Amino acid sequence: MLLTITATHPPATDLGYLLHKNPAKLHSFELSFGKAYVFYPEATSERCTAALLLDVDPVGLVRGKRGQHEGGTLDQYVNDRPYVLSSFLSVAMGRAFGTAMSGRSKGRQQLADQPIPLAAKLTVVACGAGEGLIRELFEPLGYAATVERHPLDEKFPEWGESPYYTVMLAGTIRLRDLLNHLYVLIPVLDAEKHYWIGKDEVEKLLRRGEGWLASHPHKEAIVKRYLPRQRELAREALARLTEEDNLDPDATEQTHSEEESKMEEPIRLWQQRVGAVVAVLRSVGAKRVLDLGCGEGKLLRSLLEERSLIEIVGMDVSYRSLEIAGRRLKLDRMPPKQKERLKLMHGSLMYRDKRLAGYDAATVVEVIEHLDAPRLAAFERVVFESARPKTIILTTPNAEYNVKFATLTAGQFRHKDHRFEWTREQFERWASQTSERFGYSVRYLPVGEEDPHVGAPTQMGVFSL
Ligand code: SAH
Repeated sequence: MLLTITATHPPATDLGYLLHKNPAKLHSFELSFGKAYVFYPEATSERCTAALLLDVDPVGLVRGKRGQHEGGTLDQYVNDRPYVLSSFLSVAMGRAFGTAMSGRSKGRQQLADQPIPLAAKLTVVACGAGEGLIRELFEPLGYAATVERHPLDEKFPEWGESPYYTVMLAGTIRLRDLLNHLYVLIPVLDAEKHYWIGKDEVEKLLRRGEGWLASHPHKEAIVKRYLPRQRELAREALARLTEEDNLDPDATEQTHSEEESKMEEPIRLWQQRVGAVVAVLRSVGAKRVLDLGCGEGKLLRSLLEERSLIEIVGMDVSYRSLEIAGRRLKLDRMPPKQKERLKLMHGSLMYRDKRLAGYDAATVVEVIEHLDAPRLAAFERVVFESARPKTIILTTPNAEYNVKFATLTAGQFRHKDHRFEWTREQFERWASQTSERFGYSVRYLPVGEEDPHVGAPTQMGVFSL
């Protein structure tokens, strides 16, 4: 299998510095599944091409694994693995171009940091999902893609097309980005991992995907195909990518609590909110409760004091907030009986999550205004359709009340991470549509001092099945 990368930025032979491989030499690497070579079929100052050739030993692949392949079939020995670019290539790239992938270059750092015209040729990839997927993966990253499909056999056109493609990618891009894109996306195209997928695969994916995967429009498909048959790991990876995409919710959440509580100080709004939520939970007789977007655990603390609650789950996309919650609640020193009642879990409200099913009630306190409006639909399905607790208690700021905050100028939100703040009418319109769509009824409660004109600072919707 062969991957070539061509640079045309003069002097093009500087590609050798960027890849840390001298164009005049043949470089070879021993790998557990075969041998890799790096060489330069052309190296002039106008055009320089580096080739990574992988010689996979198909017999070596199955040798020593007899136990697992008892009664094995011929396709263990005769298959496309030696010929198509796959996860083997990513492993070889890690070995051959590790330093280049991290963006370091001895002697040409400036060039390494600069987008330059580069072209990559993936001689053969197997992609059962078709040309559409190839384009969906690479085009949003700024590449012009040329995709050529190969017939099964040129001599027998009637046999039709094969799942094999030659792909040319051209773009003006930093070399490290190109390498990291290929490292992640080649196994995604191929979707057949040669090795056991462990937890460190998530780390690898996130490291190689840093700076581009979180905002890729098809990140969900990429993660799922990169971690095939590993739904738990895929979920974790997606949750962490969402976190990245949310512009560092940890940082924003911390200032969130500080800024918002400073502004709300005179009325101690958050305490009133917590009080109102607990009162509703009591009134519906909830025993098992989810606090979705629990943040640093202000509400969880009060929930723990409610003896009638036997199971309390705090969930948040921000890992750091969960750590702070754990510390503030002194989770590690909690008596076992108490500890049994509380679980903190990392997850995102953007993705269906079986762990959320079967609860009496869910609270979603000051969370929805942190979600991008187009993503609300996903949130609705996750909470109202998939988790589907009997009662949902949801609060959000009432934008009309903002005129009463002396420190807030007109049109400003209460916090910079808020994506929107709704008037009572807007909230009630959303809440009534959502409740209707998912078969809940809804009532509204004001939280905090109520002004005759602009209403209360916090609005609460209580949804019941
Ligand atoms: N409920 C807490 C925190 C509110 S701040 C309180 O009242 O104090 C909003 C919280 O929503 C943050 O902790 C943020 O990390 C979390 N959040 C934002 N997007 C999320 C998502 N997609 N899934 C889960 N939590 C999310």
